[in-house]
Amino acid sequence: MRLSRLFGMASRRIAIIPGDGIGPEITDAVLRILEAAGFEAEYTFLEAGQPSLDKGGPAMPDATVQAIREIGVALKGPTATPIGKGHVSANVTLRKKLDLFANVRPTRTLPGVTTPFSERDLDLVIVRENTEDLYAGIEFMPTPDLAQSIKVITRGACMRICAYAFDMARKQGRKRVTAVHKANIMKMSDGMFLEEFYKVAAQYTDIKGDDIIVDNCCMQLVMRPEQFDVLVTENLYGDIVSDLCAGLVGGLGLAPGANIGITNAVFEAVHGSAPDIAGKGLANPTALLSSGLMMLRHIGEHAMADRIQAAVLSVLQEGKRTTRDLGGSASTTEYRDAVIAALG
Ligand code: NAD
Repeated sequence: MRLSRLFGMASRRIAIIPGDGIGPEITDAVLRILEAAGFEAEYTFLEAGQPSLDKGGPAMPDATVQAIREIGVALKGPTATPIGKGHVSANVTLRKKLDLFANVRPTRTLPGVTTPFSERDLDLVIVRENTEDLYAGIEFMPTPDLAQSIKVITRGACMRICAYAFDMARKQGRKRVTAVHKANIMKMSDGMFLEEFYKVAAQYTDIKGDDIIVDNCCMQLVMRPEQFDVLVTENLYGDIVSDLCAGLVGGLGLAPGANIGITNAVFEAVHGSAPDIAGKGLANPTALLSSGLMMLRHIGEHAMADRIQAAVLSVLQEGKRTTRDLGGSASTTEYRDAVIAALG
């Protein structure tokens, strides 16, 4: 029995947002795997996305934001945002309100997952600025035939995200940080991002800092992805490049992420609510589970995270009980049970 139980101490609290589409199925699978591994926490289930909208509330209710602020750590399923109309993104609201400025998305070659890049041994991290850029959501139509979106870039946010990227690189023993930008066209906004990047780079003489234009970066990522170590970028480029990187290592079912702020952290997969497969038992919970492992490491549970990761890797390596996105035929729950069995 844990000491916290023995002495009646409050256990660790974690906020859970199951989210929309495949969110509830993969969240359930992840929580069962964490439980099977012996992870103990008091979960607070919070509403966001469709369940809140159905009750006439906003996609990201203030009460949910406030609860995460108090609890400090959340595991979040995906939330859907309508295209070209409708409500503001729940994610964008949460990231802005909690100032979750760094979106950290690792890309790693996984054993047993065959892709055109399987032999490249990829291990790179995207650090995406998460609070501004075109995601500021400032749009207007001065005339019915003219739509304008404002790209907001502040010097402080550029400096903060670049410092985060270099600091993370140093802590993880990484050797190179590359700024991804389009400063040849957006000379002021991306130009300022680049200016701040090199100011920060000058403080980290042990790490190589360089830059690449985003279109070239995309080409390089599919030609020679192994050359990259850490990519730091603004919000929109980071969003697009991280889906590209997910594709390099087996798809969105595998790509984890973390939204990090000064006092709060929200862990969620790169993927969305996958409405095409929702409710069919086909979703791969690995991306959310790996986000959960990032969460465990964030709260200091490294041994627990290592143990669950080893179980996931052994199931992927064996390749017999993987989900359909990886060429297998296992359902979400069959894969979950395979991971639990592999925990030993
Ligand atoms: P998506 O990521 O939901 O799906 C893209 C493709 O990947 C689909 O074919 C889907 O079936 C597949 N896929 C995604 N996750 C998978 C998983 N775990 N296992 C197996 N296959 C998986 O992207 P989309 O269809 O463009 O977006 C759907 C909705 O999700 C939109 O409303 C969008 O706004 C939202 N979204 C939310 C987040 C988030 O909450 N963080 C992120 C991206 C998109």
